Parts: sequence; structure tokens; C-alpha cells
Amino acid sequence: MKILVTGGAGYIGSVVVEELIKSNHSVTVFDNLEKGHLESVSERAEFVEGDLRKGGELLIETLRRNEIEAVIHLAAYSLVGESGENPAKYYQNNVVAGLNLLDAMREAEVKKLVFSSTAAVYGEPEKQPITESDRVSPTNPYGETKLAFESALRWYETAYGLRYASLRYFNAAGASANCGELHEPETHLIPLVLQAALGKIPHVSVFGEDYKTRDGTCVRDYIHVIDLARAHILALDILDERSAIYNLGCGGAGYTVREVIETAENVTGLKIPTKIGERRAGDPAVLIASSDKIKSELGWQPEFQDLRLIIESAWKWTKKYTTKAKIQTK
Ligand code: UDP
Repeated sequence: MKILVTGGAGYIGSVVVEELIKSNHSVTVFDNLEKGHLESVSERAEFVEGDLRKGGELLIETLRRNEIEAVIHLAAYSLVGESGENPAKYYQNNVVAGLNLLDAMREAEVKKLVFSSTAAVYGEPEKQPITESDRVSPTNPYGETKLAFESALRWYETAYGLRYASLRYFNAAGASANCGELHEPETHLIPLVLQAALGKIPHVSVFGEDYKTRDGTCVRDYIHVIDLARAHILALDILDERSAIYNLGCGGAGYTVREVIETAENVTGLKIPTKIGERRAGDPAVLIASSDKIKSELGWQPEFQDLRLIIESAWKWTKKYTTKAKIQTK
């Protein structure tokens, strides 16, 4: 299939592109490089530098020229804390730019979309594991903007025949051989833990140890970025028949912040200094996915379910990256 990936130079996008190419799809990446890294984009993909906030002209031209059949939309801002401080930035990029994309797709008559959504649409969940039919009630603008776009998809489907698969990611982590997590500034737990192991930051702050969990720290459902990427490829198939929403996590008991740090100490063989800090605003105590729906409907199965495998892959990439000056941080 001929596929366009927005945000294909970002952390998850670049791995999605790798997996698409492995599955023999033809890929065009559309990215503004504000957060992404050109070096992460497979040489077998065509790269177009563009910003969806500027409207759809370049995009319409690209969709038509490359005869795009489906779009995978990952371009977005994704920091919960920042979204609370600057919601306008999130509405502009995650909603307005997203609508520009949908209008460009209408114009170019592209009717299939896989959307990168988030567990943040559920807010403070009423039960665990979370299923797709559970109440959505975001507690921050990040989750709210992703939900707003999901709602637009529903109406665009009814009115314009757009088919979509919305994938609600839990905690993406780990790396492929060539693409890993590199944000500036970094806020995510696993990269920070590995930076602390390397002495690049003095310690990791543990955001609260008074949650009602097995060791007092937050529990999250970490999913390897390659497993996550593969779900996008499976999701493309369902679009011939219907639209769908799927959770994506590994389920089980998840892992606490302390368990992540301990596992990283085992993997790296290095001591990771920690400091107990305050709770982070908007952080639910536990977020665990039920991914039964995508498993039963699309046959998705995570290959790297064990946190150790996820951290090992991130560690391998981090060590390689730290000696490779050509990748720039943005
Ligand atoms: N966390 C932490 N210290 C940090 C960063 C994150 O204790 O420096 C915790 C955070 O409270 C959450 C978990 O680690 O419970 C995962 O956070 P991350 O930011 O990686 O992903 P999120 O759950 O926000 O998508």
C-alpha cells in the first residue's frame, strides 16, 4: 500500500516507518522536524518537510503525487504537563493541524486513517484493566485534544465516509536497532533512568511514593515501540471493512516506577540515584490496558512483553546514540 506517515521522523513514527517498509509498503514521511530527527527516517521512505498547521496545500499535492491510499497520523505534541501550561499550543497542533490533515485527505480523496491516540483520553479510570468502552474523561489538555480529534473522526466517517482506526497507546518504550527515544527536554521515565545510569543527570525524581499501589509509586503499562508499530500495520487491514478503536498495552500487572528503576539497574549493572519528589499533576495511580480487543480482532500479539527486554533495547540504543554525534537534539 502507499502510505503517508505524519510525524514519521519522531520516536514512534520512525519505528512505524521501519515496520511499514519491512512489510513492503511504500512510505512517504511528512514531518516538520520540530521534534523529529531526519536521521531516524529510513532511507527507503520519501521525506517531505511540512507543517500541518500551515494548511493543507503541500499535503494535498503530496497525497496526490504519491497516490497515497492511507495516512498514519502521529504528528502531535504529547507532554501532559506542558499541555496544562499551554493548552493553546496543544489545540493548535493536535486539533487544528489534525483537521487540516482531514480536509487535505478529503480534497485528495484519501479515505483511510490510522490515528495515534492515547490512554490519557480515559483520565482517572474507574477500573483496571481499561477497555475501549470505558468512560472517557481526560484530566489534561493533551488527552482532551486527542479525544477531540477522535470525535471529529467519528463525524467525518458519518458524513464523508472516512475510515479510521484510533490506537490508544499506553506507555511506549524501548527502541529498535536504529530508532529510540530522544526528546528535548526529556520527561519520560525510561530515558531519564538510563541518563541517570550514565551520569548525564544527577538522579531520577520519583514522582510520589504515596499512591495506593504495591510499592507506593505509579503503575504503568509499558509497551515496546516495535510491538506498537506493528499494530499500526495490522490496523490498516481493518479499514477495508470498518472503523475501530483499540487500546494498546501489554496488560498484566504493569510496572511501578520503582520496578522500572530496579530493572534498569539490573540491565545496566549501574546504580541509578533517585530522589523522592512530589506527585506530578494529572498522574493517575494506575494505567493498565486491556488489549483483548486488538488481540482477538486483529491477531496482535506483543513480542517484547517483559520490561527487561524493553529496557535492554532502550539501553542498547542509548549507548549507541551517546557515541554517535550525528544525531542532533532539537
Ligand atoms: N515518572 C517519574 N519520574 C520522572 C518521570 C516519570 O516518577 O522523572 C513517573 C510518572 O509519574 C509516571 C511514570 O513514571 O507514573 C511514567 O511517566 P512517563 O512520563 O514516562 O509517561 P506517562 O505515563 O506520563 O505517559
